[in-house]
Amino acid sequence: MERFMDEARRAAQNSKDPNTQVGACIVNQEKKIVGIGYNCMPNGCDGQLPWTRSADDRLDTKYPYVCHAELNAIMNKNSADVKGCTMYVTLFPCNECAKLIIQAGISKVIYLDDKYHDTQETKASRRLLDTAGIPYEQFNC
Ligand SMILES: [Zn+2]
Repeated sequence: MERFMDEARRAAQNSKDPNTQVGACIVNQEKKIVGIGYNCMPNGCDGQLPWTRSADDRLDTKYPYVCHAELNAIMNKNSADVKGCTMYVTLFPCNECAKLIIQAGISKVIYLDDKYHDTQETKASRRLLDTAGIPYEQFNC
């Protein structure tokens, strides 16, 4: 559904990440949007944590701190739960988000980019989703 990926793309534009802006949109079985998110720093931490991708100390990079779009979309849900919903996301979920997607009961993932296809995180993510029986497919624009 074009409009749901458009919503995910629009959400991504809100991200302050200078390198990778990601948006996610959760859609229920009635084709209603029940959650939207983009990658950001935790509430109250904006401007106080680094967006850097590489530093001598990993604690000076964004990685230990950033909340991914999928996490935010699930946390921001405006429905009782997201069981049976489809997640539209502009980048293939990492393994941490795959765990959240599984535990939240989301039943399908539709993604746009897959630029980290060969990383350990993405391989672990596919293994998790495959094992949990959650289908994922690339969005055709
Ligand atoms: Zn993630």
